[in-house]
Amino acid sequence: MEKLPEFLSYGRQAIDEEDIQTVIETLRSPFLTQGPKIKEFEQAIADYVGAKYAVAYSNGTAALHGACYAAGIKEGDEVITTPITFAASANCVRYVGGTIVFADIDAETYNLNPLEIEKKITPKTKAIIPVDFTGQPAEMDKIMEIAKKHNLVVIEDGAHSLGAEYKGKKVGTFADMTMFSFHPVKPITTAEGGIIVTNYEDFYKKLLLFRSHGIEKTPYSIEQGDWYYEMTDLGFNYRMTDLQAALGLSQLRKLDIFLGRRRKIAQLYNEAFKKIPEITIPKQVEDTNSGWHLYMIQLDEKIDRKEIFNKLRDRNIGVHVHYIPVYWHPYYQNLGYKQGLCPVAEQWYQNALTLPIHPSLTDEQIDYIINTLIALTKESR
Ligand SMILES: *Cc1c(COP(=O)(O)O)cnc(C)c1O
Repeated sequence: MEKLPEFLSYGRQAIDEEDIQTVIETLRSPFLTQGPKIKEFEQAIADYVGAKYAVAYSNGTAALHGACYAAGIKEGDEVITTPITFAASANCVRYVGGTIVFADIDAETYNLNPLEIEKKITPKTKAIIPVDFTGQPAEMDKIMEIAKKHNLVVIEDGAHSLGAEYKGKKVGTFADMTMFSFHPVKPITTAEGGIIVTNYEDFYKKLLLFRSHGIEKTPYSIEQGDWYYEMTDLGFNYRMTDLQAALGLSQLRKLDIFLGRRRKIAQLYNEAFKKIPEITIPKQVEDTNSGWHLYMIQLDEKIDRKEIFNKLRDRNIGVHVHYIPVYWHPYYQNLGYKQGLCPVAEQWYQNALTLPIHPSLTDEQIDYIINTLIALTKESR
């Protein structure tokens, strides 16, 4: 039997000696949490994307929770998002008691379709959570126009899109607040971690408050003495540690190299698959430069996705499927969301397949993936 290569996961972190050293140095420093590395990391991310403020959180989901709090979403409010995303993009609205409304995707970009968003707007709509799915920015110009018309807050879920560009500018300042995740498969990692960037001081202050128990120094507390503080609202402990922030700073220095490699891999895949009739390559919208967090193809309907998925896994190719439409999950079904709600998304999901893409994959490994997939699609003809 032929010898299989090592398992090639769809995504994974790229950690080097510099990353390791920087975490060790922080371990030896006086602050393990709430120290100087957090502020440094927040400033570095804000500078990188060109935003005024950044607030680091313990993970991206907590950061989305903070953004929903800052946006003032509460029971009775409706928030629109896409069904083709990780559950956290919708769950964050449930955490603050809001109602999530799913709008359908565009069949070509796989992102929220602005026309579908408009159809779902009611007097109760309070916010939109567009997702830059796979790293390709959502249609932010159109989405912001809709938001302005209906006085809505926009929270961009940029978990996939740190470093991606929309109309020549990095993602991070198009929406009112933008979230980035630093989970190990994301563009850079802090193991667990997330951040919200914003240009608005009001949101910034609320994000700080919510992250740390709702505790602040008020004029009253300052008058009382240096030990005094006030808990003015119910917050959480959603803080990132200085160890994580130090790792994030070190990773951020390599982000553009990581993005370059991801873009190169996407180009290799695109070139190889564009002549294969059973494979539709992901369309790139003009004026966007994807971060290529995920590389997703559509398989011809005649191909049995499960069979090809299993055959690729048998050959140690870590294919995956992103994502099961969020409202198909039993939690959302139990809330009354019905299958068939977003037909384009559901149809898209049936034929979707995620191929491995991350900075450490070599050209030889990409060739192996390409050749194996092409051979399997030919077999199934
Ligand atoms: C990863 C991810 C999140 C959540 O981020 P965590 O840091 O894992 O909590 C939210 N939305 C999307 C689209 C994601 O991929």
